[in-house]
Amino acid sequence: MTQPIYIYGNDVLHKKVENLTPHQDITAIVKNMFDTMYKAEGVGLAAPQIGQSISLFVIDTDELSDEYPEAKGVKMVFANAEIVEYSQETWTYKEGCLSLPDFREDIVRPSKIKIHYFDEAWNEYEKEFDGIIARVIQHEYDHIQGKTMVDRLSPLRRQLVKPKLLKRFRQGVSTQYAAINPK
Ligand code: ZN
Repeated sequence: MTQPIYIYGNDVLHKKVENLTPHQDITAIVKNMFDTMYKAEGVGLAAPQIGQSISLFVIDTDELSDEYPEAKGVKMVFANAEIVEYSQETWTYKEGCLSLPDFREDIVRPSKIKIHYFDEAWNEYEKEFDGIIARVIQHEYDHIQGKTMVDRLSPLRRQLVKPKLLKRFRQGVSTQYAAINPK
């Protein structure tokens, strides 16, 4: 079942989430998140984007695999994730976000991360990721910290962009997927 996507400016996107209780059944919400993400043609989706303030995000980077072969077949669930290490080295990539329609910006992020997380069956992992996969994970991880791409811009750029985005989204932005605009 697909869910409407909350657009930038809704409170749920701007506050830190609660951790899930380990071993709680998250199969239904995980399925809804994948359904919603595929319908909207995204490569990642975090629970706050469907109005749930819980520590859960999903990714499927397969559609990036023409440009980034390592993205092929990568479909993962991250519950109660904690990034425990970041590389010094960074790279820049033009990101987009389903909660920020028609907005793309160059975002600088560490190239490599180590992350501790659980999957939907509560298997525990600590893994290293790099390249485009580390990029998508960090974007979604920001959402569970109550942050978006806008918070990654330089202070000057953010000051310029934020009021314009809020104005546009409050007026009501049209998307190919069901969306909840901010008041
Ligand atoms: Zn996003």
